[in-house]
Amino acid sequence: MIEATGVSWRYGATPVINGVDVTARPGRVLGLIGPNGSGKTTLLRLLYGALRSPTGRVGVDGDTLRTLAPREAARRIAVVVQESGGESALTVAETVLLGRGPHLSTFQRAGRADLAVAASCLDRVGATHLATRSFAGLSGGERQRVLIARALAQEATHLLLDEPTNHLDIRYQHEVLGLVRALGTCVIVVLHDLNLAARYCDDLVLLSGGTVVAAGTVTEVLEPDVLEPVYGIGMRRVDLDGNLHLLFEGVLTP
Ligand code: ADP
Repeated sequence: MIEATGVSWRYGATPVINGVDVTARPGRVLGLIGPNGSGKTTLLRLLYGALRSPTGRVGVDGDTLRTLAPREAARRIAVVVQESGGESALTVAETVLLGRGPHLSTFQRAGRADLAVAASCLDRVGATHLATRSFAGLSGGERQRVLIARALAQEATHLLLDEPTNHLDIRYQHEVLGLVRALGTCVIVVLHDLNLAARYCDDLVLLSGGTVVAAGTVTEVLEPDVLEPVYGIGMRRVDLDGNLHLLFEGVLTP
């Protein structure tokens, strides 16, 4: 469980996250949604400790995140972010093996069991055929799948992802989110696409201007009345075979 209370951040003099509370529960997928610039990435960075909030607290399974040693924090939280590892000279297999780092002691080499975990994680994202390729030479979508495999290999109890479906074609968007959902671990995912959020998340936090506008289950948050003023576009919610979908209508004039 990740529980943040009263976290905030400013870039220079500009506040971008203002006293936000977030609770991600065990076994559930929490989506962070909101328009561009609403603070989703900044909030995620506060939740995994890349940024340290000057106010409030981030708790991970009852412990304060900033008091955890880096190795312990990495056993609890695995992260998939956009920019990671782009210039690396490693092969794909080596990149995924890096995920085993928090489970090895200093100077301990990865063993047979670690190699097996890494290979199985690469297989789960459908990227076994890329194992010997250079990570730096991959396409955006291939990289994304490999970074997800690396995070899976970390076997952390929480998985945090920043727009993991960027660069992926529609089949892999669904495959990757389906896989993430099936993990059964606590997941926090920044998602752009509200219909993907509807399908793969349990709970949502809707941000606007660095504050939480709505938080709750998918059904509670994905209400046209809630979303329209935030996104500035008309919406209709329909139920197709028990699945919630949003249809987008005209741009709303203020
Ligand atoms: P989102 O992920 O919802 O698009 P971000 O968290 O990336 O939002 O950004 C929130 C606000 O902070 C935006 O106005 C953005 O321009 C600003 N911002 C993000 N990163 C930086 C930075 N490194 N320096 C200055 N401003 C930033």
